[in-house]
Amino acid sequence: MNLTHRKQCIMCKGELETMYKLKKFPIYMGVSTPNVEDKYSDKVFATCKDCGCIQLEKLIPLDILYNKSHNSAIGKVWEQHHNQFCDFVKNHTYGNIVEIGGGNLKVANTIAKNKAVKKITVFDKFFPFDKKSDKIVLQNTFFDSSLIHEKLDGIIHTHLIEHLYNPLEQIKEIADNLKEGGLMMFASPLIDEMLKDNYTNAMNFEHTYLISEKMIINILNHAGMEFVSKKYFSKHSAFFIFRKNINLNFKISHDYSNDFNIIKGFFDFHEKEVERIKSQIDTDRNNTFIFGAHIFTQYLLGFGLSEDLFLNILDNDPAKQNNKMYGSKLEVKSPKILKDIEKPLVVLKAAMYTEEIKKDILENINPNTRFIL
Ligand SMILES: [Zn+2]
Repeated sequence: MNLTHRKQCIMCKGELETMYKLKKFPIYMGVSTPNVEDKYSDKVFATCKDCGCIQLEKLIPLDILYNKSHNSAIGKVWEQHHNQFCDFVKNHTYGNIVEIGGGNLKVANTIAKNKAVKKITVFDKFFPFDKKSDKIVLQNTFFDSSLIHEKLDGIIHTHLIEHLYNPLEQIKEIADNLKEGGLMMFASPLIDEMLKDNYTNAMNFEHTYLISEKMIINILNHAGMEFVSKKYFSKHSAFFIFRKNINLNFKISHDYSNDFNIIKGFFDFHEKEVERIKSQIDTDRNNTFIFGAHIFTQYLLGFGLSEDLFLNILDNDPAKQNNKMYGSKLEVKSPKILKDIEKPLVVLKAAMYTEEIKKDILENINPNTRFIL
């Protein structure tokens, strides 16, 4: 695997300095594919000496990173997210629109109902669901400006900006396809806020820089776009509308000096968590389990929790059971296997689901189960 190395800061082109390394980190979240070797890369966090922006130094090639289709089923929260986003943009959509990503067509199918909208071209690698309107045109590829032949009235993207390797240049390239006065309407996570709450899905091989609201404004201003409006979906993500205005002279100041303390807090928290969990594990591995074949467990192992402490990973998702978690030897089993263990110990950290999972295990599987929460 040929990694790309970031040589300079994505925002101010300043010099990068390595600040933290998670060695040999699995490149995918979730479970392994049978008979395919797991891939790893060091996850190297760097800080810009000039503006303070936090970013990963080593980048996975895009064709490998996005080789797997994203989970095409939309969960309840995403359903809500997309509905609120469509509601937010509905009075601003008209004419000829491009959506980048959005292969599930949730947004395009909704926007197409708007009479003022003439055409929506959707760029994506996967289209798992059917289009519900003849106005929708599918382009089965990553975004490509050369396939756009007339200037656009609007561009839509949801949770795309945080995936870009060169956000400043790429958003400008995308915005160049807009007419003067055209709108860019998009949803983005607020990764600074996610890190403050120690979310492990905040920065990873897909989200390679610490995007904040301040940075979003700078990226869009750099592309000649002025701020129109925003709406918070939650503390951790927001919707934005910007308008193309080539006559404005934007003053951009790249100062993200607070990012260092935010990411440092995230590292400190997880190092302490690993020490705390280790100190509470007192049984042998045949009684000891960790819950969740997902990024949170991958991070705990990445921060130094040994997988040899555990017999299995437990997960309620039947699609994950009897597979290995990506990047580990641990096999995923249903929590029902705890029934045959005398006094099992389970490391259970599942955020808002923790209480529900604990209750289910104690009441329906094994009342003698002990937990490290
Ligand atoms: Zn910089």
